[in-house]
Amino acid sequence: MRVHDVLIIGAGPAGLAAAARLREHTPSATFTDDEHQRYHWIKKHGRKMNIKNCKTNKNSLPTPPSSPETSECGCDHHASDEALDMLILDADGTEWMAKWNRLFKTFGIDYLRSPMFFQIDPADRDALLAYAYEQERVKELQALPGCAGKEVSKHKKKKRINSKGRFLGGTPDIDERDRKDYFVPSTDLFACQCEEVIRRYGLGRDLLRQEKVSDIEYDTIDSFKDVEHDSVISHESSDEERKFFRITTDQGIRYAHVVILAVGPGNTPCIPPVSGLPTPCPHEGYTHAMQIKQFPPPHVKAKINARHSTNMLIVGGGLTSIQLADLAIKRGVSKVWLLMRGNLKIKYFDVDLDWVGKFRNFKQAEFWTADTDEERFEMITQARNGGSITPRYRKILDAHVSSGKISLHTHTILQSVSWDSEAKTWTITASDSSLSAPPIDYIVFATGIQSNIHTIPFLQSIQHAHPIETIGGLPCLNDDLMWNDDVPLFVTGRLAGLRLGPGAPNLVGARIGAERIAWNVEDVLKKLGRKGPWGESESESGDEMEAYAAARDNRFGSLVGVGEE
Ligand SMILES: Cc1cc2nc3c(=O)[nH]c(=O)nc-3n(C[C@H](O)[C@H](O)[C@H](O)COP(=O)(O)OP(=O)(O)OC[C@H]3O[C@@H](n4cnc5c(N)ncnc54)[C@H](O)[C@@H]3O)c2cc1C
Repeated sequence: MRVHDVLIIGAGPAGLAAAARLREHTPSATFTDDEHQRYHWIKKHGRKMNIKNCKTNKNSLPTPPSSPETSECGCDHHASDEALDMLILDADGTEWMAKWNRLFKTFGIDYLRSPMFFQIDPADRDALLAYAYEQERVKELQALPGCAGKEVSKHKKKKRINSKGRFLGGTPDIDERDRKDYFVPSTDLFACQCEEVIRRYGLGRDLLRQEKVSDIEYDTIDSFKDVEHDSVISHESSDEERKFFRITTDQGIRYAHVVILAVGPGNTPCIPPVSGLPTPCPHEGYTHAMQIKQFPPPHVKAKINARHSTNMLIVGGGLTSIQLADLAIKRGVSKVWLLMRGNLKIKYFDVDLDWVGKFRNFKQAEFWTADTDEERFEMITQARNGGSITPRYRKILDAHVSSGKISLHTHTILQSVSWDSEAKTWTITASDSSLSAPPIDYIVFATGIQSNIHTIPFLQSIQHAHPIETIGGLPCLNDDLMWNDDVPLFVTGRLAGLRLGPGAPNLVGARIGAERIAWNVEDVLKKLGRKGPWGESESESGDEMEAYAAARDNRFGSLVGVGEE
């Protein structure tokens, strides 16, 4: 029986960010320059630095010569020989980012929605921008007109407030100085940068298995009745008491000391209840956007090829619904009927700019210092505020609406449908009785995915054995993103929303989640006596130095006694 040090479930951006961060010795992606330099100094010189003790006047060790493997800045970005025994399981494919790549290809998305610093490289917060320059691919960065610009003074802003006290708008949200961050990368540029991260950290395909996890348990080895014992687990009493993770997948059983859950929303896509909708999905007449296999589906394609008129109904008010409507029209569908239950919201990013722009630290501080998880959940709900579309897609939508290719219906709910299996068309009724749609060939529900750990099948055993509080379906993890202090099941991405904030489901959440998890994974494995790329702690002061470097404790406490014998 092989027990992996770390098993990551999910090979999407969050899983990749976590794996890369576990192999990065000098992380900087979430640190300021000051912290980064301090970290590098400690890493490079640390206890080896010659420090004169002011009391004894004695020198500590002389500085050793620089090692050839160490770069000028002290970074060693290569995978260590003592790399962790890491395994990554993913239901979608045998490669990193299989789901991400599939969806971007299916939806024909050519640019990301998020700004340049939403990226997953742990070595540098600005790694994506740097990569674009290094590869001479700056042309693949798309500007966001009106997003960044000259900051408007309070005085000028006051002038733009009308007599009713309403701000008339029209000013950029991001200061000119930060303009370089507010471009969006092309899909291919981002994919290539991820490839570069995979290569640099030695995260090849040999670490990945396409397996769908169906159960997670955490217990002593004796409690797993069917375990085959061999040399990896000794029969020492400490091992008998020690707890392990047992992961059941569609291919077998895996064991690990630490598990990182990076499964995105975790749940299956949800389709709102509609009278007359046949179950189960998939059905030839409808699909959820996340489950599209062919777009448009074969029977619609056949009609397009035969030059017959075709109609598609798309339900949902987020960016995906507009992207799919645009794609359907480009691929020959005659008309798209777009239904959304609220109004059309226009936003650059799917979280409010307050959480992304200049004042994001204030917002984050507000989030972290909130008294309760209920308050945090409320902040997440407000910051994300349902589906929204970008200004760029607003223009595309407007053009289709004015050409009559899209019929847009806001504040409208799909009430009932009836499928004619011979004609392969739907008759629909909606809450807006004035909507009279012709027979519809295909319905797409771009209605997102809810996250609720109570309904995620593979989290039932662990919740039963180790109950956890939830708010709005999200687990109340501890501050280390761990299930609780005794269960080293780390959670990142959307399910860690109550700890990471509204950016949790996005690339920025993947990077910050990885950073917070990595420190604690090291701590857990060190306690288990596992050797890792960090080496074993030589002394208590070594731990203090690391805490100092990571800005986890008092910055100066760890310097007490430096140079003393
Ligand atoms: C079309 C689209 C475009 C987007 N564009 C952006 C963007 O531009 N910028 C941005 O920041 N965000 C964007 N997002 C949000 C995006 O989902 C996240 O940024 C990113 O995918 C989150 O990564 P993740 O790893 O947390 O989750 P996912 O990408 O969902 O990855 C989770 C992985 O876990 C696997 N998994 C789940 N359950 C199991 C199981 N039981 N067993 C094994 N494996 C399992 C899945 O197969 C999947 O591969 C976009 C989302 C969509 C749908």
